[in-house]
Amino acid sequence: MKLARALCYCLSSGLGLLLLSGAPRAQAAVDISAIEAVDECLVAEICIDRYLWSLYERTPKIDSLKVSEQRKAIVKRKGRNRIVTLTFTKLVDEDFAWKDPKAAEKAGMSLADYVIGGMNSGFKLTLYHALRALDEAGFAPGITSAFRDDYRQTIATGLKAQTDRSYHGGSFRGGYGNGLAADIVSVKGATRSERLAASQQLWKWIDTHGTELGIARPYLDVDPPHVAPLDGKEYADHRIKPEAQRAASNAKDAKKRHGLVLHHDHGNAKHTRTAKSSKARSG
Ligand SMILES: [Zn+2]
Repeated sequence: MKLARALCYCLSSGLGLLLLSGAPRAQAAVDISAIEAVDECLVAEICIDRYLWSLYERTPKIDSLKVSEQRKAIVKRKGRNRIVTLTFTKLVDEDFAWKDPKAAEKAGMSLADYVIGGMNSGFKLTLYHALRALDEAGFAPGITSAFRDDYRQTIATGLKAQTDRSYHGGSFRGGYGNGLAADIVSVKGATRSERLAASQQLWKWIDTHGTELGIARPYLDVDPPHVAPLDGKEYADHRIKPEAQRAASNAKDAKKRHGLVLHHDHGNAKHTRTAKSSKARSG
């Protein structure tokens, strides 16, 4: 309740909105000094940080990595034994829990200040509401990764952006305080496969409720846990623009199929020729 009140103060810039929060409480709200309102705002930010941190803390940091392994084997070919090299791919579990603490230590910060504090404050608020909604819907969300600086990005494995380009907080994106991405999963289930199944449901839910949540998955199943603001550049660059381009090229293809483009080009060519010949005449 206190958090909700604090959020209300935080989000309303003037007393006008405070007056709207119910007649019996209106008088008390007006009496609160500006300083107290700022205090409440700070409390809200602290509460949001704590909530996000608790979700980070409760989440196992384990990844599946594809590892290629080469083994020599003897095969019989045309009656002769030959030694060949075969490549096997296997999935290996990687515990990456040590990476954020190492990066935080390098940055001279506590782990919470590093992973949560490094995110953009507007994004934290959006993420907070989205995760609360996911929690209420029974998905038991968890955070595996939030802010990451250039150093942390160099020790990341698997799917990752170039060192300074990561929206998690690479220097090219503004660094600390500007993180605009988080990796989220579900912690529901006793085993990894149960948690993966629950995570897949959570991700699907994000895809269908993005407008209400304000977050979306820019890479869909290429990098399933990665979420970013729905109105952000990362989502626009990877989902909106490619979709618009695809739609435009589909429309062009459809026109081509109906002979419209061909006809149009032919008309242009004719027009150019006419222009050229008339110029020649006047010269
Ligand atoms: Zn990510």
